[in-house]
Amino acid sequence: MTNLENNLNNLKGYFGEFGGSFVPEVVQKALDELEAAYDKYKDDEEFLAEYAHYLKDYSGRETPLYYAETLTNHLGGAKIYLKREDLNHLGAHKLNNVIGQILLAKRMGKKKVIAETGAGQHGVATAAAAAKFGMECEIYMGALDVERQRLNVFRMEMLGAKVHAAQEGEKTLKEAVDAAFKAWIENIDDTFYVLGSAVGPHPYPTIVKDFQKVISQEAKRQILEKEGRLPDLVVACVGGGSNAIGAFAEFIPHEEVALLGVEAAGRGLDTDRHAATLTLGTVGVVDGMKTYALFNEDGSVKPVYSISPGLDYPGIGPEHSFLKDAKRAEYVSATDDEAVDALLLLTRTEGIIPAIESSHALAEVIKRAPKLDKDKVIIVNVSGRGDKDVAAIADYLENRNK
Ligand SMILES: *Cc1c(COP(=O)(O)O)cnc(C)c1O
Repeated sequence: MTNLENNLNNLKGYFGEFGGSFVPEVVQKALDELEAAYDKYKDDEEFLAEYAHYLKDYSGRETPLYYAETLTNHLGGAKIYLKREDLNHLGAHKLNNVIGQILLAKRMGKKKVIAETGAGQHGVATAAAAAKFGMECEIYMGALDVERQRLNVFRMEMLGAKVHAAQEGEKTLKEAVDAAFKAWIENIDDTFYVLGSAVGPHPYPTIVKDFQKVISQEAKRQILEKEGRLPDLVVACVGGGSNAIGAFAEFIPHEEVALLGVEAAGRGLDTDRHAATLTLGTVGVVDGMKTYALFNEDGSVKPVYSISPGLDYPGIGPEHSFLKDAKRAEYVSATDDEAVDALLLLTRTEGIIPAIESSHALAEVIKRAPKLDKDKVIIVNVSGRGDKDVAAIADYLENRNK
């Protein structure tokens, strides 16, 4: 390939100035192969029919768009609808993407999949889909996370995956990503890397968005049925940004629909214990993409923190960086405390225990809904269920009440 072709090729992976592909040559070759395969199948009727079949009969889609009447009355303002991604198989939106990528891997003739995982949610989804489709599966996880998330490690092992503990650095998600990338390079010909969020080098952010946009395709149809119009506001939590970009996608062209992403402010934006990438980050290259991220002065990536294991990522998908700078979407943050209170409020008003990640989005809804007129409509994406968080919430409340 000539340099010019190489540049043109790369331009496809940009959202404004963000995105691209900053990887070693061997990886670029694999990414080009992935892009070619994806271009071939993304509009292929048989591929799309198989994807739709597994979303429906395996994962249980479509998920309901539920009018949370008790919560709405309690807050006394805008009407609040919950997009129930928590009702997917395995309890979150992650499987939407994993099913798509595994079907693509199968088409590409790959026999083995690898993935990184932080808390284990993406690892469990990948291990489950690998079991279902008869693929070998290896999951990379920071050694500290392996200790903290024993239950998910055991789940992955039950599903037949081999879990590797990364012993470097902070022993969390960043080291897991590095280890998975290294393993990919060593076995690049027969291995498919199942990426867990709308991040990384091109074409991953686009592939993950395409497999998650089912959330807003359904939500748009559902809100038109229920309200006869589009919502005024769509809210989602933001880790790497996959559930948010999926919830935003179909509404992006409708300028009258406001889009709002909520990051983790952890113990507070004035501490160094948060993961508020778009709120406090700067532009640079991380994990093969150009985007906002939390960097130290020397250019290394800062350690991040949140009560929610799915939100403590120091970068953000490049399309969110673009939407922020283009002012098409707004990004704010919620603290651990606010998220826990939001989790408890939804639990007590609607009998639904949301994931602590999703509770960050709910925390912002709780602030905004009372200030909006009763004829306004908010859709909030409940990205997952909170069963996995119950023990951590119990500990948190015990310490808070001391
Ligand atoms: C992983 C996860 C997230 C964060 O990931 P995104 O890519 O930002 O969506 C949010 N909610 C739940 C329930 C998760 O499991």
